Amino acid sequence: MRTHNLGYPRIGGHRELKKVCEQYWSGKTGHKNVLQVGRNIRRENWLMQKNAGIDLVPCNDFSFYDHVLDHSFLFGAIPPRYNSILLNNDKPEIDLYFAMARGYQKDGLDLPAMEMTKWFDTNYHYIVPEFTKDQQFSLFSTKVIDDFYEARELGIVTKTVLIGPVSYLLLGKEKEAGFSRLDLIGRLLPVYVELLTKLTALGADWVQFDEPFLCMDLSNEEQEAFAFTYRELRRSFPRLGIILATYFGSLEANTPLACSLPVNVLHVDLVRGPQQLEGLISELPADRILSLGLVDGRNIWRNDFTRTLATLQHARNTLGTQRIWVAPSCSLLHCPCDLDEEGENSPLPAALLSWLSFAKQKVSEVVTLARLSGEAGQNAAVLAQNAAIALERKQSPLIHKPEVGARVRAITAADARRQSPFPVRRIKQRARLKLPAYPTTTIGSFPQTPEVRRWRAQLKSGVLSAAAYESLIKAEIEKAIRWQEELGLDVLVHGEFERNDMVEYFGEQLEGIAFTANGWVQSYGSRCVKPPVIFGDVSRKMPMTVAWTAFAQSLTPKIVKGMLTGPVTILQWSFVRDDQPRSETCFQLALAIRDEVKDLEEAGIAVIQIDEPALREGLPLRHADWRSYLEWAVTAFRLAASPVADDTQIHTHMCYAEFNDIIESIADMDADVITIETSRSQMDLLDAFANFNYPNEIGPGVYDIHSPRVPAHQEMVDLLKKANAVIPEDQLWVNPDCGLKTRSWEETRNALHEMVEAARYMRS
Ligand code: GLN
Ligand code: ZN
Repeated sequence: MRTHNLGYPRIGGHRELKKVCEQYWSGKTGHKNVLQVGRNIRRENWLMQKNAGIDLVPCNDFSFYDHVLDHSFLFGAIPPRYNSILLNNDKPEIDLYFAMARGYQKDGLDLPAMEMTKWFDTNYHYIVPEFTKDQQFSLFSTKVIDDFYEARELGIVTKTVLIGPVSYLLLGKEKEAGFSRLDLIGRLLPVYVELLTKLTALGADWVQFDEPFLCMDLSNEEQEAFAFTYRELRRSFPRLGIILATYFGSLEANTPLACSLPVNVLHVDLVRGPQQLEGLISELPADRILSLGLVDGRNIWRNDFTRTLATLQHARNTLGTQRIWVAPSCSLLHCPCDLDEEGENSPLPAALLSWLSFAKQKVSEVVTLARLSGEAGQNAAVLAQNAAIALERKQSPLIHKPEVGARVRAITAADARRQSPFPVRRIKQRARLKLPAYPTTTIGSFPQTPEVRRWRAQLKSGVLSAAAYESLIKAEIEKAIRWQEELGLDVLVHGEFERNDMVEYFGEQLEGIAFTANGWVQSYGSRCVKPPVIFGDVSRKMPMTVAWTAFAQSLTPKIVKGMLTGPVTILQWSFVRDDQPRSETCFQLALAIRDEVKDLEEAGIAVIQIDEPALREGLPLRHADWRSYLEWAVTAFRLAASPVADDTQIHTHMCYAEFNDIIESIADMDADVITIETSRSQMDLLDAFANFNYPNEIGPGVYDIHSPRVPAHQEMVDLLKKANAVIPEDQLWVNPDCGLKTRSWEETRNALHEMVEAARYMRS
């Protein structure tokens, strides 16, 4: 039984890639050093996997920024705006590559970056390929060949991982009207063929094509593109071993299509889609191998061998040993690198260490599973030890807080409903808040200066006492309140200075959530995140934000808005326990936030914002599954939002997402006010709300917080007029697109000054 891996994290065990890239971007190191660090990481990953016993080690899974961008670069799909860099022979190739990823503002050039978006339902972001009607493709970069050759020099004949031609096109966007990107397949395929010709000449005998779109709803045209593509590839390479990799879901209705494609190995994700195995056992043609994705590439729990082996044995008994391979469910890109690196100072509770498995450990699990299934009885000790850990986790008092489960079971429909419908609440809120038309507010965070970050680090390391830290933060809050008053904002915020991150801050204070010392995962480019680990029943020990918010409110007669992160967003940006449905965990989070909402209200806070920027990204890959997700996600939000009186105003905030197809659910959340990011789309995103006759109040962002640019108030007035053309003025708020923590104080002050001017203009 063969083992293989679909992809390995490329950031390096200590984020070496991030560090060297950022040094390069700031001019502190040369490009040769960047390339060298890349080589070191690849080498280490390959050797580790080889030594662990993986039969087919992946290559081309490494990337300096993003693997989708790598493909655009590989195929020469380089938008013409980068020509000035492309044609400049003095610049290293990687400058062009990074310019596409990050934009280029140097040497008198100002080139915007390519668009970035979420990789399916993960928190990884890829660079969206741009296609034009007469898009040409050609083999532009030699990276794929170089990497294969580099591994071969180390004595490892790797399996090259490529995004399949259909998924690559589907991941992109048409940049002009009048064609469909799938029409380009005829021009793209010859470049794949050219690349594969070179690879096979170098001795490649296996290639993996990732086609995750096979786990989504497919149109007829898309299905035909799959059939055409793999027929052509097979015709060109009758003897090449082709692995077709699907993941993040189940093949469902695409099972017959996937089984009909002339490949050697079909890989399926049996963690996300265990139910697809039966259909595949009966439908897979006799000359195909099934690669079983059995080790979870999206989560960090140690594999339960007893359970997995049952599946493995079943596949073996029905398909035969020769026809099955063992693998992780998907690329390990979405896992931290190595649990052994947690070390002495890890904040993880000791008991948890034995329950977890990061990328390196998962590679070993794949090998062990293949061995265990082959040698009946011989590895009883390994199996017994694994079973003991699984049992220990299952029964651990760390996980189970009976009162939390009981509270979730006792939830009633009334708990998720405000006392009165919005029109009634609105009257009471207006009477209490006495806000002008076009009320102004911000999304919560203010600049996180290096000093503020330093204080937090010093608190952690003990250099600052809790009391000293508190007074520094309080001084910062007071400063923020004063200048919001001076600027003339209507609903103030305390500035979130005490928060490292909007999820981590709450995670650190909640029972049932742990943190790692080194559990970094790539989010995009050099940006890595350390997701919290929700390992047990979640509950709130004590108020988490009340003291800071109440302090801010005590400084001013103006209204200060309390800021919370919503349950769906905390869930979405964490590693979530896999021993109960996500909805159950989400309800536990919701109840914890609900208690905080209640306490804020009792402390006199009249406006409370519950951020849910990640609500949309939790949507399942298939439409058929949307309704049930949206139902529990919206209920969770409402549970958090509903314990308050009618005259307490609940806000929510969402950003960087499309709203059209979930507008009904957004309305169902029934927040009194929603603030959204819209300025980059010139208010077009508001149309979803207008067309739906969205009944509650809305604050469409009037300026982009990602840019240091300060727009003049006239620009914001124009946007507000545009908003007002589709939304009645008594429903409109005025605010930036998102939080301001990445901006400087000066930019923030100037931009908010213009924003307040714009609101005044609209009122008059
Ligand atoms: N309240 C958060 C902030 O202002 C919201 C951030 C977000 O939407 N991602 O930073
Ligand atoms: Zn936001």
